[in-house]
Amino acid sequence: MSLTLEQKFEEMKKIRDELLQLKESPLYQYRIENKYFPVVGEGSHTAHIMFVGEAPGKNEAETGRPFSGKSGKVLDNMLESIRLNRSDVYITNIVKDRPQENRDPTEEEIKIYAPFLDRQIEIIQPQVIATLGRFSMAYIMNRFGLTDKIGTIGELHGKEFVAQTNYGPISVIPLYHPAVSLYDGSNKETILKDFQVLTKYIK
Ligand code: URA
Repeated sequence: MSLTLEQKFEEMKKIRDELLQLKESPLYQYRIENKYFPVVGEGSHTAHIMFVGEAPGKNEAETGRPFSGKSGKVLDNMLESIRLNRSDVYITNIVKDRPQENRDPTEEEIKIYAPFLDRQIEIIQPQVIATLGRFSMAYIMNRFGLTDKIGTIGELHGKEFVAQTNYGPISVIPLYHPAVSLYDGSNKETILKDFQVLTKYIK
C-alpha cells in the first residue's frame, strides 16, 4: 500500500531517529567522535527513480547529505547530462554512516544498515532503482530475486533488469560508482552513456 506524503515524511523521520541511536553499529562511535551525521538520504518522496550508493564519505558525514562531495559533483553532472533534476529523484546509500578512511563497507555493516534501505524503498516505491557501485548492485539484485543474474559490474553496468517487488515490477539498473571517473577519467564516456538508459523513465 502506498503512503500519503505526510506518512512518508513520518516514516523517514523514524528512520533518521533510529539511525541517530544506532549504538550497535560498529560505525556509531566513529560518528560520535567526529561529530558526523548519519546520512539518511535526500530527494523526492514520490521519486520514480532512486539511486543507491555505497556509504557516506567525509563530506557527506559532515553535512548529512548524500553525494555532496567530489563523487556528488560527478553524479550532478551525470544527472544534468540527461536533464534530470536532483530534487526529482531520491538519493541514498546502503550504509548510512561513514566507514573509517572511506574503506569499503563490511558485510556486517551492510547487514546492519540494509533494513533501513529496504524501508526507504517501501516508503518511496520507486519504479527504477539505479545502483551506484558494486556493493549496492549486489545487495539490490540479491534482494529482488536477481541473484542468478549477478555478474561483475563491468559486465552489468548500463543494463536493465526487471525485478518483482511487493508493490509491482521495477527496473534495476546497475551503474558504475561516480567515483570511478575520478580515478580514471576515460570511464566518463561510459558512465555518461549508461545514464542515457534512465532517460526513458523520466516523467
Ligand atoms: N559515495 C557514496 O557511495 N555515497 C555517498 O553518499 C558519497 C560517496
